[in-house]
Amino acid sequence: MVRTNSRDRELRARAEAVIPGGMYGHQSTALLPDDYPQFFQRGEGAHLWDVDGRRYLDLMCAYGPNLFGYANPEIDAAYVRQLGAGDTLTGPTELMVELAEALTGMVSHADWAIFCKNGTDATSMALSVSRAHTKRRVVVRAKGAYHGAAAWCTPRPAGVIDTDRAHQIFYDYNDVASLEAAVAQAGDDLACIFAAPFRHDAFVDQAEPDPAYARRARQLCDERGALLVVDEVRAGFRLVRDCSWTRLGVQPDLSTWGKCVANGHALSVLLGSDKARTAAASVYATGSFWYQAAPMAAALETLRLIRETDYLERITALGERLRAGLDERSRAAGFGLRQTGPVTLPLFLFDDDPDLRKGFCFASAMLERGVYVHPWHNMFLCAAMTEADIEAALDAAEGAFAELKRQAGGLPPVEKLSFLTAGAR
Ligand code: PMP
Repeated sequence: MVRTNSRDRELRARAEAVIPGGMYGHQSTALLPDDYPQFFQRGEGAHLWDVDGRRYLDLMCAYGPNLFGYANPEIDAAYVRQLGAGDTLTGPTELMVELAEALTGMVSHADWAIFCKNGTDATSMALSVSRAHTKRRVVVRAKGAYHGAAAWCTPRPAGVIDTDRAHQIFYDYNDVASLEAAVAQAGDDLACIFAAPFRHDAFVDQAEPDPAYARRARQLCDERGALLVVDEVRAGFRLVRDCSWTRLGVQPDLSTWGKCVANGHALSVLLGSDKARTAAASVYATGSFWYQAAPMAAALETLRLIRETDYLERITALGERLRAGLDERSRAAGFGLRQTGPVTLPLFLFDDDPDLRKGFCFASAMLERGVYVHPWHNMFLCAAMTEADIEAALDAAEGAFAELKRQAGGLPPVEKLSFLTAGAR
């Protein structure tokens, strides 16, 4: 098949001149195979069209925000209706109260909500509220876990100074002894423990949370008067219609949400329990766009669909089908493919692939066959996907494994990821 990507190439060349590095963040050219498009034209349901008009089944779902399909008619109609009435006004509309009521009604630990825009706003505010509540400084968090791109938590060192990182102690996810050691080191200065719903770090296998670790985190916070924060920004509402640690019998004091809460419209949330209410009220939380009404209208409709439809059961069944089908096909082709994490947020990594050359080759071969996958980041299922989409992905995978087999002996190293294999992981 001859692939034309001339529009993408042209835009990349223009971007080189006016956008630092040509692209920033998670789509930066250094992180994905060269043939991955950088620019897109549109999205509908589970599909995405690149700027050259090629259509993909999108297993990235915008890195999470797409839960009910791109351009979901019900959600977007609510958004557009509110746009007509008013979006960024001098203050919020009544939708803010309605949305806070809806979320506190759905998330067991939550008694209040503060709305913001990005996940990083919510996680940074969780840290401030914890410090305001405890009058202490230290955050204990898991090594390698992503909580956003602010100076206190960005995974890259550029532009960060020592004091941005002060008062942080790291533990290994799921490792009770290392959590206890980090808490002991924090002494009487512990403000909070941060945890992801499960280990969903990039480049490594995902891991379910060990209930003993989750319970111990709760207990340590209670013993020390510190707050427990669960960062649901990525996994929220793809595991359960509540905070995900509810399944482990553990309730946090604060939880952070973003990405899918308004199905792609800009909204994130910090939820908290009464314990932290006074502290939350004391923190100066605001932004020019934080009261926007249209994303709140979209969120109310998204939450209605979360409550009233079987989306979660459907995406779970689709995820199970995808996992089983890929297992079969990778085994038949003779590859060890590790599929880890919840089936609604799958990650695939190949055995014996330290520099991800197999992963990159497989991803490119999937892209060529119309399926957008990620070689080292977890993916996302959405409710617009159908059984036929999963079958199409499995057919593509069969071809992609065959292509990988053809190329396996002579795959070049992925030079651009050498910063990872050099130990920066
Ligand atoms: N926490 C987690 C777990 C995330 O996955 C992300 C985004 N990938 C963030 C926080 C930051 O969210 P945002 O990019 O919206 O600032």
